[in-house]
Amino acid sequence: VRGSAPTVVDRRIGVMGGTFDPIHLGHLAAADEAAARLELDEVVFVPTGQPWQKTSRHVTAAEHRYAMTLLATADHPLFRVSRVEIDRPGRTYTVDTLRQLQSEYGTTTGLFFITGADAIANLRSWKAVDEVVELTSFVALNRPGYRVAPEQLPDGVRVHSIDMPALDISSTEIRRRVAARAAYRFLVPGLVAAYIDRYGLYRSADSPDVA
Ligand code: ATP
Ligand code: MG
Repeated sequence: VRGSAPTVVDRRIGVMGGTFDPIHLGHLAAADEAAARLELDEVVFVPTGQPWQKTSRHVTAAEHRYAMTLLATADHPLFRVSRVEIDRPGRTYTVDTLRQLQSEYGTTTGLFFITGADAIANLRSWKAVDEVVELTSFVALNRPGYRVAPEQLPDGVRVHSIDMPALDISSTEIRRRVAARAAYRFLVPGLVAAYIDRYGLYRSADSPDVA
């Protein structure tokens, strides 16, 4: 709380936001690395509801993305999945999600927002960025082709930069591969590949952004 004595933090929660269309091994490796390096007690994956920054393409139904996120995270003892953005009507903003998580977990929980270097680069354009920066610190993971330039970041932001073995995997590339009938099976957990096949996701011409 602004202006009051510092609260003792006795729990450290990672927050991994994403469209997860689909979730892939890059997301999971990033969350696992962040959990190990920052000694997090839990990582909560938060699939987006209506991703307003990706309006240029059709996004797969939230329930499919949520289901795949559950399947992908079920076998990790520290991972859980939150429906907070999926169940919130209207546009999705990280500030609202962080507020809600902070009130769910209580003030003695520290929030660590885990993000790839590409996503943190435009932090200054986020809604209520000053409040975001107060609510959470950031775990910035290197991602092939991106680096975080400190001068791009808002004032006062707390960033833990982490180098990890890069996994050059993106959801865009997986969607492209499924549509092209190219190999993709080992870029995602086995159950996610099975789910994509079972529901025929990403296969047809009107699939999300296969170009
Ligand atoms: P898309 O290609 O549709 O944009 P994406 O693979 O970038 O999908 P997102 O759901 O946009 O996945 O990303 C969610 C978060 O995961 C972002 O913070 C992003 O930077 C991070 N991320 C995605 N892929 C990787 C990766 N291979 N390594 C590290 N971080 C990643
Ligand atoms: Mg992305």
